[in-house]
Amino acid sequence: MNPSQESVSYPRREEALLQVRDVVVKFGGIVALDRVSFDVPEQKIVGIIGPNGAGKTTMFNCLSRLYEPTAGVIELDGRSILDLPAHAMAARGIGRTFQNLALFPSATVFENIRIGCHTREHSNLLADVLGLRHSMRVNRAATATAHELIAYLRLDDVAQRKVGELPFGTQKRVEFARALALKPRLLLLDEPACGLNHEEVEGLAQLIRDTQRDFGLTVLLVEHHMGLVMGISDWIVALNFGRKIAAGTPSAVQENPEVIAAYLGEPK
Ligand code: ADP
Ligand code: MG
Repeated sequence: MNPSQESVSYPRREEALLQVRDVVVKFGGIVALDRVSFDVPEQKIVGIIGPNGAGKTTMFNCLSRLYEPTAGVIELDGRSILDLPAHAMAARGIGRTFQNLALFPSATVFENIRIGCHTREHSNLLADVLGLRHSMRVNRAATATAHELIAYLRLDDVAQRKVGELPFGTQKRVEFARALALKPRLLLLDEPACGLNHEEVEGLAQLIRDTQRDFGLTVLLVEHHMGLVMGISDWIVALNFGRKIAAGTPSAVQENPEVIAAYLGEPK
């Protein structure tokens, strides 16, 4: 065997869970992302910031396979995700929440969370193949998981209420629970503080930190609320006009002149 070939595959490098390399997204003449690269290390919280139009949502949509990058590489655990359809992302361990909630308003809290558990189990074709006994066991497991998540997120009191009747902040916790029901390794949070009051944002910061620790999650969040994103992130990536203008610890990025200039130029 050629020894140089062997050294290509062994030993494995210590790699980040998510690797984004030189991602380009063009919409006609607009370059929404211009060769953006960053890593999200396992069990860390990474925040993406940037003024309106910077490309944050576009990046998220690439990660959840709603948009196709014009160029670049996105790898989870060293394997490209770009050949997978959006509905396969849960099975690969990527869960997400949406800036505008995506819940079933006329279903109960329990039902909404239980559906999340089902989606994950359904990706296991064996459940269908092995028949009824197996699927009953899967159903019981999904119900138990839903109850555990309801307890964890302190939603017991509202478990049988219709989601549409609940305050927005509570609905956001339900969506969070449903994303966790998929047992993701990487959780993508799209502006989780959007629409929450000051007290709710503090609760959310605590919730994201606790969940990250208790579930061993890796978290990537896009966030406009500077207090939240700077308070909980281990690492910040700043975008402006589709380019990465800074990356570093929250305190370093907050002091970065290009970041300050980008935000000062942002219309309120
Ligand atoms: P952010 O989330 O940081 O506010 P976006 O990712 O939504 O920014 O947008 C980045 C740029 O890409 C903007 O100029 C926006 O108008 C453009 N853009 C985003 N999505 C589309 C789309 N589907 N079609 C055309 N242009 C888009
Ligand atoms: Mg956006």
